[in-house]
Amino acid sequence: MSTRLLIPTNEEKRVRTTDYAKRKITRLINEAIQKNLSPPPKLNLVEWADKYRYLPKNSAEDGRWKTSRVEAARQPMLSVSNPDVKEVTVMSCVQFMKTELMINTALFYMHQEPSPIMYVAPKKETAEAWSKERLVTSVDSTPVVSNIFTENRRGQGNTITQKQFSGGQISIVSARNPTDLAMRAVRIMLFDEIDNYPTNVGAGEGGSGGEGDPISVAWKRSTTYGKRAKKISACSPTVAGRSRIEQEYKKSNQNVFFQKCPYCGNFKVLDWTDVLIPREEKTGDFIHDKAAIVCKQDGCGTLWNEGDRHYSIKHGYWKSLKPKVTWHHGYKVSALASPFTPIVELAKEFVDAQGNPEDLKVFYNTRMAETWKEKGEQPNWERIYERRETYPPEIIPDGALMITCGVDVQKDYLVYETVGWGRKKHSWSIEKGIIDGNISDDDTKERLANFLDRTYPNSKGIEVPIMKACIDSGYNTQEVYSFVRSYGSNRVVSVKGDSVGNLKTIIGTPSLVDVNIDGKRISRGLKNWMVGSAVIKEQFYRWLNCKKPTDEMLKAGGDFPTGYCHFPEYDEEFFKQWCSEQYIQQTDNRGYSRYIWEKLRKDNHFLDCRVYSRAGSAMLQIDRMTESDWIDLETEWGVARNEVQKPIPTQVPEARKTGVQRRSNWIKRKQ
Ligand SMILES: [Zn+2]
Repeated sequence: MSTRLLIPTNEEKRVRTTDYAKRKITRLINEAIQKNLSPPPKLNLVEWADKYRYLPKNSAEDGRWKTSRVEAARQPMLSVSNPDVKEVTVMSCVQFMKTELMINTALFYMHQEPSPIMYVAPKKETAEAWSKERLVTSVDSTPVVSNIFTENRRGQGNTITQKQFSGGQISIVSARNPTDLAMRAVRIMLFDEIDNYPTNVGAGEGGSGGEGDPISVAWKRSTTYGKRAKKISACSPTVAGRSRIEQEYKKSNQNVFFQKCPYCGNFKVLDWTDVLIPREEKTGDFIHDKAAIVCKQDGCGTLWNEGDRHYSIKHGYWKSLKPKVTWHHGYKVSALASPFTPIVELAKEFVDAQGNPEDLKVFYNTRMAETWKEKGEQPNWERIYERRETYPPEIIPDGALMITCGVDVQKDYLVYETVGWGRKKHSWSIEKGIIDGNISDDDTKERLANFLDRTYPNSKGIEVPIMKACIDSGYNTQEVYSFVRSYGSNRVVSVKGDSVGNLKTIIGTPSLVDVNIDGKRISRGLKNWMVGSAVIKEQFYRWLNCKKPTDEMLKAGGDFPTGYCHFPEYDEEFFKQWCSEQYIQQTDNRGYSRYIWEKLRKDNHFLDCRVYSRAGSAMLQIDRMTESDWIDLETEWGVARNEVQKPIPTQVPEARKTGVQRRSNWIKRKQ
């Protein structure tokens, strides 16, 4: 019996052999399936771009994409297709990496892992421009995706902002439109130029209501995709502490780019202090076309030529400062690591920006990818007071060619300041004052109208009118509207300050406030202008903090820096009001920190007046004025600087006068 158990019968042998054969066949089949039928190994973004991507004709270098041409982009691209990374943040200089990273990501996911994609731009216009000038041209020039956009199910064609493809769609939306942001589930989110997003999307005038931070609103759409969702954010930074991209970067694993010295082999993260711009021995002038990166390594000290710089980039590498953060990869990179901007070009921009904090800020933000640290944001009123000048008030100083006025409306009085503006946004305070009374009284309206009708003599005795007056409609809104409506000249407009920083520009788009019986807005009715108070205050404080050039510098032909503010011998209270606010950091209930303006004393009216005056200058296009525009204004006001002066008119030119001759009596006109 026992042997029977140990030795298999022939029958049993046959069965076992058959089992063995079956298993073997199954294994062979499985192997064959795996070999022949499984999808090809998945490409990462770098492999995909190097294999398939072509740059459109309108890019700097068209033709086949080569990651090796933009070495610093390699690692960020790998992060995008890395399944363990959910967020990628790129804080970089302009014209480098950001756009192509977004495009490569979009095309990669359309082709490799079709999913819903959303691209968010700061504004509708920029969203549409991206779609037309970047996305479509890139799709067209890249053969594997050139026919990817299909008609949607209803047979409708693709639009600029919504494009279908098999397995998904790409929506191109504005961060200012809450409906677009909350549209549908999205897996791949591309957040571009995020420092220009509003702080509160869909907020009403003055920042009330709204859905909150546009990035959080949009990002909620990705929850259904869980770990597979992806968030790519990119921008050049702005002001330290208030820059969104900086906040995102700080939450990431913070990669910095090391470049290799071709002479000593040392690796270093370069910044602007590594660039040497030699100076003329006698004059001290910068010689920007001799600028070069200098290796600061002991015993090296070699100056790099452009070829050396390209070598340093090719052999560079990224290093994370916070390697524990594995799910969020952040990259910070300046133009020094960009093969597209030669050092001498950067040096020229830097030299041109000397003495102008405005321009230096732009240089550091957009070229060095560094945030700008405001130096002593709140100006010291005593220091400003000491800088008063002795020119007489109510006379227009030479150089001031554009006259604006800001009026702040209080319960029992109106506060105003008249400002003259000139080249480089230099300003002169011309008059300040208070009109007693409540704006709802006809008598007060009459006196305000008379004031706005006034003119100021310039050095040639020519009477110059206020060219734009901005009246604050935040307090007694309807009465201000009624005044502006009755005044009946576009020289006088109503404005509303946006103090929460939702508006990122000096002025916004004016909104129609007049409605007809059906409640429809009347297109030719009164317009109320939104004013970016937060932006203007930031700029004004920067201007107030500008250093006055020394007399010697001025004698040697030097000029005041951009935005320099001149003011006559006003009382202390005026300057205390000017310097009455500060920026403070505030964390809202969504945990998103932002900076807001906070009043440090009760009265800040003259600061508001200046804000409205600045807005008026923007309405008069001061930010777009060319030299020839200024010459025209000089000629018009009889103060042309060139030798061949036009005959000086003896009275106000008729064309200008018309705006002033408004009507004789306020109350009569009303009836
Ligand atoms: Zn070296």
